[in-house]
Amino acid sequence: MAEYAFEQGPIRPPSEAGSLLLRVSRNCAWNRCTFCPLYKGQKFSLRPVADVVRDMETVADNVGRIRELHESADGESFKKRLRTFYYQLPEAERPAMLAAIKWFEQGMTGIFLQDADALLGGTRRLKPILDALQRCFPWRPRLTCYSRSATVLRYSVQELQDLARGGLDRLHLGLESGCDEVLQAVAKGATQAMHIQAGQRIKAAGIELCVYLMPGLGGTALSTPHALASAAAINAINPDFVRLRTLAVVAGTPLDEAWLAGQFEWCDSLTLVRELLTFFNALGDIQSRIESDHALNLFEDLAGAWPQEGTRIKAMLQRYLDLDPQTRTFYLLGRRCGQFRGLGDLKNVERMAAVRKLAEEADITPENIEEVCRELTRRMI
Ligand code: SF4
Repeated sequence: MAEYAFEQGPIRPPSEAGSLLLRVSRNCAWNRCTFCPLYKGQKFSLRPVADVVRDMETVADNVGRIRELHESADGESFKKRLRTFYYQLPEAERPAMLAAIKWFEQGMTGIFLQDADALLGGTRRLKPILDALQRCFPWRPRLTCYSRSATVLRYSVQELQDLARGGLDRLHLGLESGCDEVLQAVAKGATQAMHIQAGQRIKAAGIELCVYLMPGLGGTALSTPHALASAAAINAINPDFVRLRTLAVVAGTPLDEAWLAGQFEWCDSLTLVRELLTFFNALGDIQSRIESDHALNLFEDLAGAWPQEGTRIKAMLQRYLDLDPQTRTFYLLGRRCGQFRGLGDLKNVERMAAVRKLAEEADITPENIEEVCRELTRRMI
């Protein structure tokens, strides 16, 4: 039997940056999505429930020790004492202490169950984990996890309600697309109907839902159907959050092989922005929040309450389409180099000067900018 060790996985949603990461399973049981590099070559396993519970108990103990230190010292003195205390621990105990320290510093308001699909294993497995969470963290931090539509559909609404009563507040569901042709092409293991049914079931159970949409996933060929069918799926679900995470074709993935073989055409920025505009024009009167908190997205400020901020969001996309080719080149370069977060940054004199200089030095022009951006994007992953 493998020896117990505190574990945390590599991935969490952007919104869970301050959450405690508790690993209930390792890697991804599906692991076939052609665009996804995350767990390729890694074997899936469910962690023993006893180990997951031990992780929680260890973090809860550590939080208690940190609180004691915090109460007996303040400011700089607390930080110094915490550092000394940490380095006096045996090395094997440090990862769990580090996780507790980071969580304490963030206010201990959220917990995220890892890895790719924490609902695998069913309610019998999750019940003791949820019970232990309530026992170890009685102030009830917000509890969230990733799952897949196929897994959610193994649960009835009533079983999902039991999870909600047990403390599960929010599910993150990677739709990526609502278009069957795209979903099949990228081996997502779901159809539009499955996504809709799973999303509606989560909402009916009273669990908050964040769905992920991947602009560009249909490539040039399926850009419009991808936008329209994704909007239709999201209209039918009415999720609480829609998170954009633009496609990057990552070296070594099956999608990369298809791209290199000329079987997939990676959208340029104009196609991508037209696709987003088509998507938002087809998005109905749902009550959601659009989020764009990923570095791969072209605009970090393409976010806001829907439908209230729909006009601003669509105007922003149209503004990009209306830019002259040289300004668009500067924007793309600035965005990919981390100088720009949104179109408003084009007016930032210092940043614009830095981008112009870079464009001149590297000989980046409207003719080669898309190719440069693809390379920069591949390196960002
Ligand atoms: S289900 Fe998620 S983690 Fe698993 S291969 Fe697909 S995108 Fe990657």
